[in-house]
Amino acid sequence: MTRLAIDGGTPVRTRPFPDWPIYGQLEEKLLLEVLHSGKWGGTGRVKLSEAEKQFADIHGAKHAISVVNGTVAITVALQACGVGPGDEVIIPPYTFFATASAPLMFGAIPIFADVEENSLLIDPERVEALITPKTKAILPVHIGGRPADMTRLKEIAVKHGLRIIEDSAQAVGGSWNGQGVGTLGDCGTFSFQSSKNVNSGEGGMILTNDDAVADMAWSLINAGRIRSGEWYQHEHVGWNLRMTELQAAILLGQLSRLEEQMRARENNALILTGLLNGIDGVRVLDSEPQVTRHAYHLYLFRLQPEKAAKTTKRDFCEKVNKEGIPLHEGYVALHQNRAIIDGIRKWTGESRVFSCPVAEAACGKEAFWLPQNVLLGDEADMQDIARAIQKVVQSI
Ligand SMILES: *Cc1c(COP(=O)(O)O)cnc(C)c1O
Repeated sequence: MTRLAIDGGTPVRTRPFPDWPIYGQLEEKLLLEVLHSGKWGGTGRVKLSEAEKQFADIHGAKHAISVVNGTVAITVALQACGVGPGDEVIIPPYTFFATASAPLMFGAIPIFADVEENSLLIDPERVEALITPKTKAILPVHIGGRPADMTRLKEIAVKHGLRIIEDSAQAVGGSWNGQGVGTLGDCGTFSFQSSKNVNSGEGGMILTNDDAVADMAWSLINAGRIRSGEWYQHEHVGWNLRMTELQAAILLGQLSRLEEQMRARENNALILTGLLNGIDGVRVLDSEPQVTRHAYHLYLFRLQPEKAAKTTKRDFCEKVNKEGIPLHEGYVALHQNRAIIDGIRKWTGESRVFSCPVAEAACGKEAFWLPQNVLLGDEADMQDIARAIQKVVQSI
């Protein structure tokens, strides 16, 4: 069956984009090594130690601790940084659900600071205005792979005695002022879930330069044990949240492909930005010299408000999809999510209302994204994307 374009003709693009995941003989070899070692679990230390070391080195971190996924990585990181029930954690509303559900898992309260108009990242000025005596931490999210303004956020954290946990799930390999994400705050968390730029099926990592945070995170992940202790010596209320050796094998294979893939995404994103910039009605996000490496998990752009007002997100996306481009509508505004609001009420007894107009406009009308694998192709692919978007924008 041939799909028809929005004008009933041939779609701008009929070829597929690069497949995801990308893997080969290396992953196969590493997996078999783990298989034959007989040590498949998270205490085996066949490949896990090497995967942690490589991951730490990529970001310039002192410690890397593997964990089952990126959601629990946030929960553990918060607790390892001393955040407890009733403490407030300031987060952006334009992010994946887990950024808010991770603190709520143990009664810490997410407080939403709106995002910046030009980057869709947490707005440091909004953060400062929301600080109360209950605030314990700031949890910025490097959404789409672009680091948040860590310089300003660190100034605010130091001034108010707050911890910073970077949700870097989308930003493997990213850097701010030349410093790796996950090492800029007190600690950073990562995800290796299947859609992420480094994928081990499921999996996660916590990075930190702080010895005490590292020890506590390790303990929480390892049934409350301490690194130097006996097997049945439990010093904290921890859980078994260990990643497995099988995942570490795939992770090592995927890490070997990271640099080449990052370069392809960076090059193609630059080309695409140039092309989209020339389309009337489309608005690319501002570039920022302090973003020394953008990990491009997502390529985000917006429609100008006047254009966005003439269509719905669903309709715009469907039309671009019909032209053969996998455009997504993106996130719902988390500060308005019923489950999150109910979760906050459950712990505090209060119905909180947050004002985040920039995120509401982005989620409701204006912001769209392309997944990272479309950036792994070539310049002709970027031209197809731009042509399809231009065709649809002109039609509304
Ligand atoms: C994917 C993601 C997570 C959660 O990671 P999982 O491994 O899926 O649990 C958290 N935060 C952000 C921003 C993410 O994109």
